[in-house]
Amino acid sequence: MSTFQAPKGTYDLIPPNSATYLAVREAIAAPLRNSGYGYIETPGFENVELFARGVGESTDIVTKEMYAFETKGGDRLALRPEGTASVLRAALEANLHKGGNLPVKLWYSGSYYRYERPQKGRYRHFSQVGAEAIGAEDPALDAELIILAHQAYRSLGLRDFRILLNSLGDKECRPVYRAALQDFLRGLELDEDTRRRIEINPLRVLDDKRESVQEQLIGAPMLRDYLCEACKTYHEQVRELLTAAGVAFEDDPKLVRGLDYYTRTTFEFVHDGLGSQSAVGGGGRYDGLSEMIGGPALPSVGWALGVDRTVLALEAEGIALDIPAATSVYAVPLGEEARRVLFGKVTELRLAGVATDFAYGGKGLKNAMKSANRSGARLALVAGERDLAEGVVQLKDLASGEQTPVALDAVVEEVRRALG
Ligand code: ATP
Ligand code: MG
Repeated sequence: MSTFQAPKGTYDLIPPNSATYLAVREAIAAPLRNSGYGYIETPGFENVELFARGVGESTDIVTKEMYAFETKGGDRLALRPEGTASVLRAALEANLHKGGNLPVKLWYSGSYYRYERPQKGRYRHFSQVGAEAIGAEDPALDAELIILAHQAYRSLGLRDFRILLNSLGDKECRPVYRAALQDFLRGLELDEDTRRRIEINPLRVLDDKRESVQEQLIGAPMLRDYLCEACKTYHEQVRELLTAAGVAFEDDPKLVRGLDYYTRTTFEFVHDGLGSQSAVGGGGRYDGLSEMIGGPALPSVGWALGVDRTVLALEAEGIALDIPAATSVYAVPLGEEARRVLFGKVTELRLAGVATDFAYGGKGLKNAMKSANRSGARLALVAGERDLAEGVVQLKDLASGEQTPVALDAVVEEVRRALG
């Protein structure tokens, strides 16, 4: 071990387990790619102000969890704690919303940073795949995103997850509810911090995880009872579309989520095998966010799924993804001349699209064959001086041990045939 270790709250993705992470990212992205979402990549840091305004000044993410810093040039930046604000910022900056082709549908995948208390499923560096549909108010779009996340989890073989669904209302009905909730909350016994939160963002108090707070919240006014007709109709349509698609969900009138920008539809995917870090993904509609960061009115909806927790969910359900071996063919040269010739064949095979590896470092036959087996390859190409003199290499089936000589200029063809 070196003097250095990964920073607290982080871990490295290392083969072979890292293959599972890649497969999870791909499984989450596949339904999006198949549904009109284009790939977007934004910087790992942004102006701190973007998150302060976009995520919300009073959220835990901004007040406690953000890695904010000043550069040598005096810029105030922050490592991105989430994706939505950045993606919307980038879409606005590139005028994607002006193409006359709304909604703008984007997906992304990357690293996110939050200064949290590390525990299983909660890290300071983690990975999300996300999707945003910008610039349309249509219950079918909200339903689409939930259905696609559901499809992604199902394609991974996950079963023990649930979808929690709620509506947070809009700028018509939410203020009325907010005032009613504040009245209720002001009458409770709460600490200073929470009292302050009542004044800034009372809905977040509903999200408080502490038992002592949750007990007092029994009987709190419910947003459900305050939704305006437009919000009620909208929400009902989302629910109907999900039901018609065969996607089961649970109405959760207390689901508010940690970010300020949500309106109307909000949802969370929770997995029952993960203990207290049970949220594997979440999202919702954020009709006001664009204006909050200086853009035009662009009603939008999106989600982000956590890759780390999805991998933990797979483990919890005992699911091993079917990951094909990285290498199909392993070449073992015996002697200098064989090394030169086989290396050429390896390059040829790779160009032909066959995953091939090579016994480097002048290993003896026994060691090289061990490496061949370890690589997961189905075939080995073995050649020594006598083979080369005859113009052949030995093609060995690593499972059966069967070995056949193959003419040097027929190697690619024969390997392809043998691999099927
Ligand atoms: P939690 O309530 O567990 O803190 P969150 O509401 O902060 O989650 P979001 O901001 O909605 O999470 O992020 C979406 C997903 O990203 C989460 O459902 C989770 O899977 C993942 N995620 C969020 N924070 C972390 C973290 N610190 N470590 C690992 N995964 C995380
Ligand atoms: Mg959080």
